[in-house]
Amino acid sequence: MKLQLSSTSFHDFTAQPVGGLSSARLMELLQKYDRPGPRYTSYPPATEFKAMTAGVYLDALERQSAQLGDLEPLSLYIHIPFCASPCFYCGCNKIITRNRANVRQYLDHLRKEMALLRLQSNVYRRPVTQLHWGGGTPTFLEDAELTELVHLTAHYFNLQAREDRDYSIEVDPRTVTRERIDLLRGLGFNRISLGIQDFDERVQKAINRVHGFDEIVELVETIRTRGFSSLNFDLIYGLPLQTVETIQETLRQVIALSPDRISYYSYAHLPERFPAQRAIDAQDLPTPAQRLEILTTIIDTLTGAGYLYIGIDHFVKNSDSLALAKAQGKLRRNFQGYSIDKAADLIGLGVSSISTAGNVFAQNEVQLERYYQALDANQLPIARGVVSGEEDALRCEIIEQLSCFRALDISGIERDYCIDFNEHFRLLLPELEQFERDGLIMWQKQKALTVTADGTLLLRNICMAFYGYLDRGAPIRPLFSRAI
Ligand code: SF4
Repeated sequence: MKLQLSSTSFHDFTAQPVGGLSSARLMELLQKYDRPGPRYTSYPPATEFKAMTAGVYLDALERQSAQLGDLEPLSLYIHIPFCASPCFYCGCNKIITRNRANVRQYLDHLRKEMALLRLQSNVYRRPVTQLHWGGGTPTFLEDAELTELVHLTAHYFNLQAREDRDYSIEVDPRTVTRERIDLLRGLGFNRISLGIQDFDERVQKAINRVHGFDEIVELVETIRTRGFSSLNFDLIYGLPLQTVETIQETLRQVIALSPDRISYYSYAHLPERFPAQRAIDAQDLPTPAQRLEILTTIIDTLTGAGYLYIGIDHFVKNSDSLALAKAQGKLRRNFQGYSIDKAADLIGLGVSSISTAGNVFAQNEVQLERYYQALDANQLPIARGVVSGEEDALRCEIIEQLSCFRALDISGIERDYCIDFNEHFRLLLPELEQFERDGLIMWQKQKALTVTADGTLLLRNICMAFYGYLDRGAPIRPLFSRAI
């Protein structure tokens, strides 16, 4: 494969193909830049949260209500932590159980959390334009429980029936039938994210998550005919037994099913942190060089099939609203990945969920017992968080611009944040100059910085340069996955 090295302008860059590097160049970049880094779903990231009381969060909600009013859109996230069996690659906050009584107890506490929030803030008045159920496995809930949770949410919040709402749910294909898809549509969900991960049977067995291709075909057909406005596939690369050849076959099947969006995450093997991963034999994992080759195969194949690579891990059809948002400069990145920001604030409900209100990030207790204890004591279960300051906002904006547009409007940043970029980031200049020498960025000093096609493969590393909390030179922290 040969790379089409980019020498493009800011405006036409996103149309450029990515990948095709010679293997020598791949290895050179890999040795130099493959190091752990955060995924940048938010800044500051959750790893930097410190102890916080519910009062700080409630004050922030009150300020937002006073400032924005009751018509300001709101985003809701509900976390369902239960799963029937462990997927060996999993790093999520989940509880493996077959005991249905757990769900009853959890729904009762979710009700209490919603009631407390309604009692203590006016946020319930705001129209919920975005709703997302994640996990765990939301479809671990039975039909009556799914219905109950939607009714609960509608009772305590201002759910919307309007067509442009984004109400999405993560679906484990092993837990749904055609009838359950019908139910979800009837309950008001209009976006579905199917957790596929990989279609290769040997890979599926190695990660303890087996489902047939034919079952997925049937589900996709149902989703297509029931009026869902968007279908996303979650996939993972870097899994045991994956090779360029198996990935090519999985990609062929994915493209045949034509999802509107594809999230292709990089597997982070951190068995010391996630016990389920100890079931994976490290010998079966692709080498770093293979991972990079797999990544370039994914990017080349999906962009060749008409998908737009919108940035870190995500691809969308050119007709998708995210593609339009990117073209219009309205793409955002938040805790749920890329989005079109319709809501200023996010209310997270359930164990470990994260909320944002203005400049306050607040996370619920991550342990189920502690989450229950707080609610049983009639307290919101906020445990940790951060109040982001001016410097955080500046770095967040830079990282978001790079993640969403692979470009940085330096003069705009200087104007909006009243800084001299070179002076403010003088300690970073040698690193940026190194990126430039390595062909990862094009840098018009004082004006703009553009990530090249080569640099796109290392976008997380480029973002990392602006990450104020990374302790350069410190030993590698096991909290983060590698950049590739
Ligand atoms: S990957 Fe999803 S379904 Fe599998 S164990 Fe983790 S949270 Fe549960």
